[in-house]
Amino acid sequence: MLKNSTTTKTKGASDMNWLNESTRTLAVIGLHFGDEGKGKFVDKLTTDWADIVARGTGGANAGHTICIGDEKHVFHLIPSGILHPGKLNVIGNGVAVDPRVVVEELDILKSKNLATDHLRIAYNAHLVLPSHLVIDRLRESGSGKVGSTLRGVGPTYVDHYRRIGLQVRDLRNKDALWKKLKLNLEEHACFMRSFDREVIRDIMEHEHLLEGAYFRPNDLNVVFDSDAIVEQYLAYGRLLAQHIEDTDALMYQAVKSGQRILLEGAQGTLLSERYGTYPYVTASDCTTTGLAQGVGLSVRDVDQTLGIAKAFYMSRVGGGPFPTEMGGEKSERWCAKEGVTRDVELREYPSVSISKTNPIDSTTTEDFFMGVAIRRHGNEYGATTGRPRRVGWFDLPLLRHAAHVVGRDIALTMLDVLDACPEIKICTGYIYAGPDQWVGNRQLTDGHVISCAVPMADILEHCEPLYKVFPGWMSDITGIRSRKDLPRELLNIVSFIESEARVTTRVLSVGPDREQTIFDE
Ligand code: GDP
Repeated sequence: MLKNSTTTKTKGASDMNWLNESTRTLAVIGLHFGDEGKGKFVDKLTTDWADIVARGTGGANAGHTICIGDEKHVFHLIPSGILHPGKLNVIGNGVAVDPRVVVEELDILKSKNLATDHLRIAYNAHLVLPSHLVIDRLRESGSGKVGSTLRGVGPTYVDHYRRIGLQVRDLRNKDALWKKLKLNLEEHACFMRSFDREVIRDIMEHEHLLEGAYFRPNDLNVVFDSDAIVEQYLAYGRLLAQHIEDTDALMYQAVKSGQRILLEGAQGTLLSERYGTYPYVTASDCTTTGLAQGVGLSVRDVDQTLGIAKAFYMSRVGGGPFPTEMGGEKSERWCAKEGVTRDVELREYPSVSISKTNPIDSTTTEDFFMGVAIRRHGNEYGATTGRPRRVGWFDLPLLRHAAHVVGRDIALTMLDVLDACPEIKICTGYIYAGPDQWVGNRQLTDGHVISCAVPMADILEHCEPLYKVFPGWMSDITGIRSRKDLPRELLNIVSFIESEARVTTRVLSVGPDREQTIFDE
């Protein structure tokens, strides 16, 4: 499906050998459920290679940390390349843009006297409204809960497909904004009518929306004050005016003129609304196809893809099936428990660690403790919330599926996290243990062996993993910079994954720093 690319490698820096010389458009895509460590590659490629960095999916539900001096900021909408003034940063048409968030992020940059004029926002990107934030929370409070990040992204896409959505360009056109907003808010008010006014008020207070005087508590028909929203959104439009552009045309020209384009993936393939563990997915297609479309290109314009996977474990935030989760339901319950954060977990399980010298203190739920230990070593906690991510062993059936969708050149990250792990389990397949179900013309019955995951929640939740156990390497690899110096035990597992999932490992990451990376030699 991807444009033919030669296998000639980029000359010059040896750490870019994995990049084909002819590659002009490269997509960096997560192969799991997000948080795979894409940021490090995006950062390196932005600095050393790209002319343009573009986002095409999701919204403020993604996040990357940008260090400005000694301070760290988590940015949700502005692409990672913003600290490079010579490179265009594009928020493409497929992104759900909350103007309040963009303005806040720009303000942070401006307060540090950093350039922002290289940011471009698609005039036809989806516009997040205050009501979307409220709807997101109301939906998540019901039985259809899917673990939304509550940034209004899902409801924004829903409006787009219902053909009542607004676009960024509406921020600049008062009459159109008024007209479209009115229609949109009438629909939203219909949905909200069945909810208690106080609940809506509380949500708006929580989201700091009352300050905008958007709420009309006594008017049963409208809920939101459209005049107040129009006024505020036109003000955002004025602040963002210099950034709003026809980025589809810009990207088309960039491809035609041979510029180097880095497509920055958000979330991961297993969260794609099209290819992920439906319905526990994000609301956009975060694979190569969705990303290319979301910046106004065709998937045929993408020359090369680098899929990023954690090794040899995985993590997942929120609900949804996770066959290899360490500690199964106990882990899922613990990670979802109100108030549990990194600090709470540390207090509850102070001595849990991966190392042999500090053994896990229970045999019955050992896997659960292994999950806690890996979470701690890998710092698998939400960047802003501190909430624990669910942790599971590396799942080959899911990787086979993701690589099939995205591509076979991959990077494995977080290898150092398992440095002190005596045994490593790789899930090679599943035994289906659920009710008879048809998948196309194939019927799944109890005891069926599955090797390539069918990524639907109601199938995966009945899949019991089959494991192959490997000895760990039990040594510190964070200082290693060459593949040949890596422990034999580690390379054995990499080879096993490569042959079983038919992927090629281009890059291995042995620590969070840019230098802690081993490239194809
Ligand atoms: P993204 O959501 O895929 O962009 O994930 P991030 O780039 O935010 O990475 C998540 C965290 O993992 C960050 O704190 C990184 O510094 C860290 N990280 C990335 N690669 C490695 C690695 O190889 N080892 C370790 N220990 N941490 C890493």
